Amino acid sequence: MTHVFPTYARFPFELVDGKGVTLTDNNGKQYLDFTSGIGVCNLGYQNPAVTSAVEAQVKKVWHISNLYENHLQEDVAKLLVKDEDKLVFFANSGTEANEAALKLARKATGKTKVLSFNHSFHGRTYGAMSMTGNPHIQEGFFPMVPDISFADYNDNASLDKITTDLAGVILEVIQGEGGVINGDPDWLKAVQAKCQEVGALLIIDEVQTGNGRTGYQFAYQGFDLDPDIVTTAKGLANGLPVGAMIGKASLGDAFGPGTHGSTFAGNPLTMASAKATLEQLTPDFLKGVQDKAATVWTQLANFTDLAAVNSISGKGLMIGIHLTGDVAVNDVITTLQTKGLLTLSAVGNTLRLLPPLVMSAGDLKQGLTTIYETLSDLK
Ligand SMILES: *Cc1c(COP(=O)(O)O)cnc(C)c1O
Repeated sequence: MTHVFPTYARFPFELVDGKGVTLTDNNGKQYLDFTSGIGVCNLGYQNPAVTSAVEAQVKKVWHISNLYENHLQEDVAKLLVKDEDKLVFFANSGTEANEAALKLARKATGKTKVLSFNHSFHGRTYGAMSMTGNPHIQEGFFPMVPDISFADYNDNASLDKITTDLAGVILEVIQGEGGVINGDPDWLKAVQAKCQEVGALLIIDEVQTGNGRTGYQFAYQGFDLDPDIVTTAKGLANGLPVGAMIGKASLGDAFGPGTHGSTFAGNPLTMASAKATLEQLTPDFLKGVQDKAATVWTQLANFTDLAAVNSISGKGLMIGIHLTGDVAVNDVITTLQTKGLLTLSAVGNTLRLLPPLVMSAGDLKQGLTTIYETLSDLK
């Protein structure tokens, strides 16, 4: 590719077709997908209900602007909030959902300061990048948005930084891009308690962990938390670009007409896709993800015996295999590609796995066996 900014280090093949959990490249080679397009196509490729919902909407209107009523937005919002007293703002991506959260937190509290955590990832636009605890992401782009500071994740000393002058505290309950780092359940509860004590809004970024990835609609539900604001995106519409910020209804007055907006956001096409996606995330489906994940984690327990593996982290079908320093994760990824398996990396020499949630237990087992054998061959 010569006409596109080289912002991505791309592998030298193109995925041109997909069905279920299998992708086909431009040479006709087939792959079992342990990436879901980075946690997006959680229901696999050509998911029948999503495809037919989008096909039906393509033949009506794709875009109408936010000047008019939009029943599909209302339907998706209801599927997101269930019976909770919450409101939804639609965006087009994860970073935009986090921009909305930052703006809402400042406007609703009248305060400016936000606390984020080291190793976090919240996106690439200025607000979200400024809240991202990874110096490499910010490098060359200073100055950042002011009044954002960082503390150590899972560290009780960080609780002292949650003070009355904060608009909000933003975190992922499992840090994704930063290396699949599990939040400590007690620490997360302590952060929430401190936020409530000082009047700071707790913002949970579920862009990656949401929409069933950990076996819950939102991962925070598995930690029994009660955030003021939740953001999500990636898996929300199984591949069409959509993000959402969900906030407690008491914050609604701060986001009145004209305060925030987006031309494309919530258009009927992406909403049809999001609706058909969320309708499949039933309690039975989520239970099925948890059951498959239990088998996966039993198999993963053997991986720590491998010389190439330091540790394993994650939850549900969000998995990080932390490799030792002398094994390059990118070499592992390319070797797995030759064996017909697509995988991801994350910060810290982490082999990251985000298989579609619809993958069968048999395919999950087969993919993990391929990874195990590949890692065993290394030493
Ligand atoms: C991917 C990701 C984002 C950014 O989402 P985009 O859609 O790429 O803007 C934000 N937060 C988390 C936790 C993510 O994993």
